[in-house]
Amino acid sequence: MQRVAIAPQQRQEDAIFLTPEQQHYLYRVLRLAAGDRFLAMDGCGKTWIAQLEDTTAKIIDRLEVKTELPVAVTLGIALPKGNAFDDLVRCCTELGAAAIVPLLSDRVLLNPSPQKLERWRRIIREAGEQSERQILPTLSAPVRFNPDWLQSCAPVAGRYLCVARGEFPHLLTCLQSSLRLGEVEEIAIATGPEGGWTVAEVESAIAAGFQPVSLGKRILRAATAPIVALSILAAAIE
Ligand code: SAH
Repeated sequence: MQRVAIAPQQRQEDAIFLTPEQQHYLYRVLRLAAGDRFLAMDGCGKTWIAQLEDTTAKIIDRLEVKTELPVAVTLGIALPKGNAFDDLVRCCTELGAAAIVPLLSDRVLLNPSPQKLERWRRIIREAGEQSERQILPTLSAPVRFNPDWLQSCAPVAGRYLCVARGEFPHLLTCLQSSLRLGEVEEIAIATGPEGGWTVAEVESAIAAGFQPVSLGKRILRAATAPIVALSILAAAIE
């Protein structure tokens, strides 16, 4: 059955009020008709079997799905050049991120427009439908990679900074030992831009309690590192 992400406020009791875009998608693109069923997901953890009735859909049943990672992963990604972030938000949604934070670090060259944010949120909804996420990742407005942001991560016990060069332990090794030590509920991990982090940035992250980690001996592109980090996390956690 096809999945459609709805906003929680579109549902009232057992009725879902469809937006014009959703009606277009369901009736024209998917060629469904009144009486046909689809899966509606509110992006906050609930999925229903819904039946089309003109401009609304009637909820038939609740569906229990379990596709979320058992650990909430916040991914801070220094904004790469060009349109690379489009693919990154899509891949990170597929791989199970709980939150995506675009970071403006010293060597980030752009500050995206609000339209870009809207575009990325749409990509997240589509990727969430496709990859059968129950909970869609949140995407915050870009934040400066500075001590304030680093401190705001302090409640998260597992904080990692991916650093391309230097003798740092591998992310997998760090994860395995923290998983062995007990329950891990949340993880925050940050990756840098094409030009990498500055020395001062690495130092301030370490001062704020981030563990610098390696993703292997090769230097990955800014648009590759978050995908590798999240794949390692998901494999270790699941
Ligand atoms: N131009 C920089 C590399 C930047 S790579 C240099 O030559 O040193 C972009 C980002 O990807 C880095 O800031 C880091 O966060 C991440 N990254 C790339 N390869 C990595 C690796 N092998 N280990 C850990 N992080 C890596």
